[in-house]
Amino acid sequence: MPDAYKIIDHTYDAVVVGAGGAGLRATMGIAGAGLKTACITKVFPTRSHTVAAQGGIAASLGNMGPDHWTWHMYDTVKGSDWLGDQDAIEYLVREAPAAVYELEHAGMPFSRTTEGKIYQRPFGGMMQNMGEGPPAQRTCAAADRTGHAMLHTLYQQSLKYDADFFIEYFALDLIMENGVCRGVIALCMEDGTIHRFRAHSVVLATGGYGRVYRTATSAHTCTGDGGGMVLRAGLPLQDMEFVQFHPTGIYGAGVLITEGARGEGGYLTNSEGERFMERYAPSAKDLASRDVVSRSMAMEIREGRGVGKEKDHIFLHLDHIDAKVLHERLPGITETGKIFAGVDLTRQPLPVAPTVHYNMGGIPTNFHGEVVTLKDGNPDAVVPGLFAIGEAACVSVHGANRLGSNSLIDLVVFGRATGLRIAEILKPNTPHNPLPKGSEEQALTRVDRFRHANGGSPTAEIRLDMQRTMQAHCAVFRNNELLTEGVAKIDAVAKSLTDVNVTDRSLIWNTDLIETLELDNLLAQAVVTMHSAANRKESRGAHVNEDYPDRDDANWMKHTIAWLGAGEAVSIDYRPVHDYTLTDDVEYIKPKKRVY
Ligand SMILES: Cc1cc2nc3c(=O)[nH]c(=O)nc-3n(C[C@H](O)[C@H](O)[C@H](O)COP(=O)(O)OP(=O)(O)OC[C@H]3O[C@@H](n4cnc5c(N)ncnc54)[C@H](O)[C@@H]3O)c2cc1C
Repeated sequence: MPDAYKIIDHTYDAVVVGAGGAGLRATMGIAGAGLKTACITKVFPTRSHTVAAQGGIAASLGNMGPDHWTWHMYDTVKGSDWLGDQDAIEYLVREAPAAVYELEHAGMPFSRTTEGKIYQRPFGGMMQNMGEGPPAQRTCAAADRTGHAMLHTLYQQSLKYDADFFIEYFALDLIMENGVCRGVIALCMEDGTIHRFRAHSVVLATGGYGRVYRTATSAHTCTGDGGGMVLRAGLPLQDMEFVQFHPTGIYGAGVLITEGARGEGGYLTNSEGERFMERYAPSAKDLASRDVVSRSMAMEIREGRGVGKEKDHIFLHLDHIDAKVLHERLPGITETGKIFAGVDLTRQPLPVAPTVHYNMGGIPTNFHGEVVTLKDGNPDAVVPGLFAIGEAACVSVHGANRLGSNSLIDLVVFGRATGLRIAEILKPNTPHNPLPKGSEEQALTRVDRFRHANGGSPTAEIRLDMQRTMQAHCAVFRNNELLTEGVAKIDAVAKSLTDVNVTDRSLIWNTDLIETLELDNLLAQAVVTMHSAANRKESRGAHVNEDYPDRDDANWMKHTIAWLGAGEAVSIDYRPVHDYTLTDDVEYIKPKKRVY
């Protein structure tokens, strides 16, 4: 039996877990509909990873050249390597302009054109004329601090609404009853009290799980806690093999240099000073999609044309751009370059390498944010009471590869959509049934187990093992041998968690315990990612298996869904890709070869 913990009960219509861009936008919508709403977050809202987003948010406003939502749709489908669901993609791109204007009206300080319109820059894979080009200027930006501007705007707005914020509360587990989500259990990190939230709707907006890798641009808090909770609830995660490497993380540090740097005219060179992207992507060049650019860089390094002593990275040039433009459009990365690489961007090239950046996979949902699963042959069976949005979710609009600036827009569009859905299906003051007996037990047993863990391996050591294994076996290039070995290794690392050692037994700001709970969530997703990658026998988007260099639509144009049972037992099944659009205003975009 777990120790006696003090349990405090709460009852809400809806509880949102997460206060990044997605969680805040959902909270505003739900509370705005008159529903009693709580938002739980493990960090102060404005410290969520959304704050770090740099380059911008995509919407076909057409402020700086021709654009149309159908072009944005085409690019997103192509970017996804035809693994994205086209109904959801249509919803995203059609709602995008209104979502950006909503942010503008809420006071978001966008950069401006001379006429006072929202400034838009070109971004990778964003083209005019249904992919034909030239590049479309579609990415709305607030200099290179767009996420900062957006998150602060959303947080300020959210305070207008009658929602209760539970800040520095760590969500532990979902409360499930007969396949229905009934609430969530959280730990108040400040005093160790346990909070049981009973709710008709629970929205997971917990962000990505980038920290399963050794070098990632994501914050240390990106530990995929929502995905961990979903797996423990016996539900599957989707398309976890698709992990995005951003081409330009600062070599060594992994800190991000926005794609906006190439959008503003930056380019990559190898040790021979060659602009090699011209060979790999003759038309889009340095602005090809991220998977293509990262792979090209890895090829150059592999073939001995990397720069530096170890020949293991690439140069990004911005030194040809007017210093005034750099100062105005890219002030943040100019500073980052100085701090993390000791480089003056206006004179020297910046050392960069592909770095883990985004998780295309996550909790499967439809475009209303409702979590779905495969049940009794129905691939779109809704899990009542449970929603997921943002990077934690897999709608799937990004498919096998996300285009830059398509995540920030996904947060606000689907955050809003989820609020609308909940307001539609849930009337204020709907009575609550009592929770099942022992609803807190699973969560507390788990906390107790880690809090008193007395094994031989510190949390940090197991985490490093996991990160090294993922980086070595599940990175930009994969093959059967690497993945088969990777599966055995990551399963062994996951098993080693039974030998973890937690030294702090207290319940007051026990970071040792919190990091171990996070590691447990990370490991579950590392295992599912590696197994899903080993299972997919083709190359598509960010997943490249060199033993199967081509995309195989006949056999593999389908979403992987994976459950995690006891003892690292992963079971895999599939959901069909939605090969239909939302309306008749646009035709289904048929698969073709993806070249940039
Ligand atoms: C450096 C960087 C730059 C980027 N730049 C861009 C860009 O320019 N354009 C673009 O479109 N995309 C960009 N992205 C991607 C994009 O920023 C993210 O995908 C997006 O911000 C994720 O938002 P989110 O709301 O889903 O989650 P996050 O912003 O990560 O927030 C997660 C929230 O969940 C809470 N949470 C998590 N676990 C728990 C728990 N157990 N209990 C309670 N609360 C919990 C956290 O406290 C936090 O509030 C960038 C990403 C990075 C890392």
